[in-house]
Amino acid sequence: MPLVLVENERTAGGRYDAWQDLTGQRYHFPNAYRLMVREGEEFVYYRGVRASGGRRRAHPEYFGYGRIGRVWPDPANDESAPKRTRSWFCEISDFQRFASPVPWKRDGLTIEEIPRNLFGNGVRRISQAVLDEILVLASLLDGNSSYLTKQGEITIDRRSLGRDGSPTPRQTIVTSRIVRDSRLARALKELHGNRCQICGDTLLLPDGTKYSEAHHIRPLGQPHNGPDVAANLLVVCPNHHALCDLGGITLDLSMLCHHPGHVISDDSVTYHNSVVLMAGSACCSNTGSHS
Ligand SMILES: [Zn+2]
Repeated sequence: MPLVLVENERTAGGRYDAWQDLTGQRYHFPNAYRLMVREGEEFVYYRGVRASGGRRRAHPEYFGYGRIGRVWPDPANDESAPKRTRSWFCEISDFQRFASPVPWKRDGLTIEEIPRNLFGNGVRRISQAVLDEILVLASLLDGNSSYLTKQGEITIDRRSLGRDGSPTPRQTIVTSRIVRDSRLARALKELHGNRCQICGDTLLLPDGTKYSEAHHIRPLGQPHNGPDVAANLLVVCPNHHALCDLGGITLDLSMLCHHPGHVISDDSVTYHNSVVLMAGSACCSNTGSHS
């Protein structure tokens, strides 16, 4: 399960000075977290408001991504002392510092759904969905590249950034989970009764629930940097979601199914028809994999 690793900066009080962390290289942690910190796990770094030099940040934030590597006991451990007094190190691989840190709250709600008094814990488990949400907000993951397949699996294009901040070739990772939406997307899907705003269809699942997806018309993340607001979201069926993402369909505001509580941005639609549509057709002719 993905993790949050807390790495606070050194402070005048010296409260964190005992931990010999090296950002992006190794993490030093107490025995209590030993079972959570396992080789291969993905994580995001988190830090509180105390910054170095006695400064304070406006809010806690997530500031990087990585993967846990080798774990080994702290050579300074006293083997005769109780286990709970021991500490451990782990190596960190695939580290990517976020170009801009991601604030811990979004729309006034914390991204991690845990009681506030647990935010001080040095290592915390998070769901894959929360990890993805943070990576989307950090522009490391393109939130529009997710498709639900029959097995309930989705394929995510995880783009990594080079040291100079330029995108490197995309890697594709397949995870087994159901797509979890942001609160905003959930609210809009409910508003539309899970009806596709393009074709008007509603997918009925075997358990009787209705299924739809939320599409960001102007994609989140680089290079599009679309906003995560209702005016930029379209409730769609999976087929139309794929067509929108791949630039396979022109959007026409007058042909969409509208709800008075959800006004769609003209600018977003124009962006789709001019930029996404063009990129989509370029992609298809280059790879030949979409027919
Ligand atoms: Zn549709």
